[in-house]
Amino acid sequence: MSHGPPKLPVQVTEVVNGRSDATARRTVRCPANDHSVPVERCDLCGWAEQGSSQRDEIDCGHPEMRMPVSQPSVADRVGVEEIMSRRVLSATPDVSIEALTSLLLDNHIGCVPIVDAKQRPIGMVTKHDLVQFHFTKDGNEEVILAHRRQRSSDDDLEPGLHRFQLAATVAEDVMLPLAITLSERATVAHAAALMAIEGIHHIPVVDLQGKLIGIVSSMDVARWLARNDGYLPPEGGREP
Ligand code: SF4
Repeated sequence: MSHGPPKLPVQVTEVVNGRSDATARRTVRCPANDHSVPVERCDLCGWAEQGSSQRDEIDCGHPEMRMPVSQPSVADRVGVEEIMSRRVLSATPDVSIEALTSLLLDNHIGCVPIVDAKQRPIGMVTKHDLVQFHFTKDGNEEVILAHRRQRSSDDDLEPGLHRFQLAATVAEDVMLPLAITLSERATVAHAAALMAIEGIHHIPVVDLQGKLIGIVSSMDVARWLARNDGYLPPEGGREP
């Protein structure tokens, strides 16, 4: 029986902006470069068929191709890219709270990374952040009450409940400004340790340029642990 070249899964990163336009970036972890590259490069490099960039998997024939580890035994030897979600929904800082809420609810996801113009994560909005908002009516004026984290730019804003005009409230106003990301070369053990130390459930995964290529959740780690111990948790499902 003949086997074709090993297949590399394509990672898809979608970005929604304030005009509700969505753009997608498709990358693959290249064994020759040992980091993620745009799929268009596979059509040019000679180790894959022309048109490979249009598919969900790349048939990479490079001799340095290493098969992914299928049944790893220890978390510190398994790359986080093995368990992260490769289809990532993200948003720009100008997206409205309403659009963000719809994005989380419609896609059954627990958080949305906020990215800058170069698709580098600059913050995170979680369901928890949105639940902390209480929409009220004050006469004809719609207002929003938010538990807002103090940021360096909010020199005179104390942590606690503050009142903002709804129309002016966008992702940037409620996101947790963060620098917590994982390299695509990090391990599952590294991801678990960072979640435990920082008390977070989701961590964006970035390539060597700092661009978002995936996201790993505590549920991804739990499912991997269960599968590695012989249990069969369902794929996908709702995130915390
Ligand atoms: S086809 Fe070429 S660019 Fe694409 S993953 Fe393989 S070696 Fe890298």
